[in-house]
Amino acid sequence: MLAEVITVGDELLLGQTVDTNSAWMGEVLASHGIAVHRITSISDQANQIVAALDEARMRVDLILMTGGLGPTRDDITKHALTDYFGMELRMNEDVLKGISEWFQGRGLPMLPVNEAQALLPDGCSVLHNPRGTAMGMWFDAAQDGRPQVVVSMPGVPYEMKGLVEEEVLPRIISKWKLPTRYSRTVLTQGIGESYLSEIVHDWEEGLVQRGVSIAYLPAPGQVRVRLSAVSKREGDARQSVDAAMDEFLNLAGDHVVAQADISVAEVLVEMLAQRGETLSIAESCTGGAMAASVTSVPGSSAVFEGAVVAYANAVKIDMLGVDPVCIKQDGAVSESVVSAMADGVRTRMGTTYALATSGIAGPGGGTPDKPVGTIWIALSTPGGTEARCLKFGSHRGRNVQRTVLECLAWLLRKVRAV
Ligand code: AMP
Ligand code: MG
Repeated sequence: MLAEVITVGDELLLGQTVDTNSAWMGEVLASHGIAVHRITSISDQANQIVAALDEARMRVDLILMTGGLGPTRDDITKHALTDYFGMELRMNEDVLKGISEWFQGRGLPMLPVNEAQALLPDGCSVLHNPRGTAMGMWFDAAQDGRPQVVVSMPGVPYEMKGLVEEEVLPRIISKWKLPTRYSRTVLTQGIGESYLSEIVHDWEEGLVQRGVSIAYLPAPGQVRVRLSAVSKREGDARQSVDAAMDEFLNLAGDHVVAQADISVAEVLVEMLAQRGETLSIAESCTGGAMAASVTSVPGSSAVFEGAVVAYANAVKIDMLGVDPVCIKQDGAVSESVVSAMADGVRTRMGTTYALATSGIAGPGGGTPDKPVGTIWIALSTPGGTEARCLKFGSHRGRNVQRTVLECLAWLLRKVRAV
């Protein structure tokens, strides 16, 4: 089962809108065992739409299109498709009723251009879009005797996603008897993608024969690893993936921080909550990013007491009790200061654990002995306080992100080991 994606919109070609629709559809289709062979972005022009469709129809069974369905003049996809399939636009009374209710519900007047959105090609199946006024359209076609489907959806990402999940996928699954696909994702941290693939290199070589594919999905400081397999018989894919995953977990060892597709912060919050333990944070160079990461997890209030963003030395001294002599002797970015920050916030907030950061996030501010990317982190626990020095690059945003992740993963490993 092969598919292609065509995204329509001048804004995509001008770089004003990033084509996230293709990426999302590619992932969703792949997870259903449908291989996307090509992604094409084209302008809002009928001849481009016709050419792209003609080409794609030579190659694949399923073509998913987004964009160009808005009420404005520049959106012409619906007209182009109506002509392409030799259909006529006809007023769809059900859709018209839905659209007028949509406007009534929002207390907005319905304009003639909105009414015109209920004009739909008479030979297509209408895919109901409850999130907006542009409906999806499903065209059954054929190529060399094979059934073929062209789907057109609005460009607004959340409308498109709703349509794919609620209307398009169920129809695809029932039309083509799709093989079952099974995949598992784990989260690794503290090891780069290339180091990780080095560790698993020999094992990875044998995966293809076993019908298992591996994907590395890297982000700063962490790599998600996904193993997947496709099989005709239900259960076969699961068996192959589970067996391969056991082996991967053995090889990757402590680098795996979560055996699911969740974030380090989520795992940490869940684990602390189970243990009835709490956390506080003192942040200098991360400026509150760690607290934001923890509080982005629903239920974090059960474990997170609070954070002090201690940027200035005076705040480190007054709010956290850091000894001014330490700052003077060792500098704010030092083992002694970051340890005192962690101890200070833990004592003041009365938590089980505390994390602290103090570093030079960059791009400026480095010195020969403390270059940009030098970041001290500390972990204070009932058993004592430890500090570590991280050495990152000069990209400020990435340094903050990686520091946060390193701290949370450090605590996670610590808690696990206790
Ligand atoms: P349209 O259906 O062409 O009226 O698109 C409506 C809006 O959806 C546009 O203004 C874009 O902001 C957004 N959009 C269109 N195509 C894409 C795409 N491929 N990826 C992400 N956003 C898109
Ligand atoms: Mg458009």
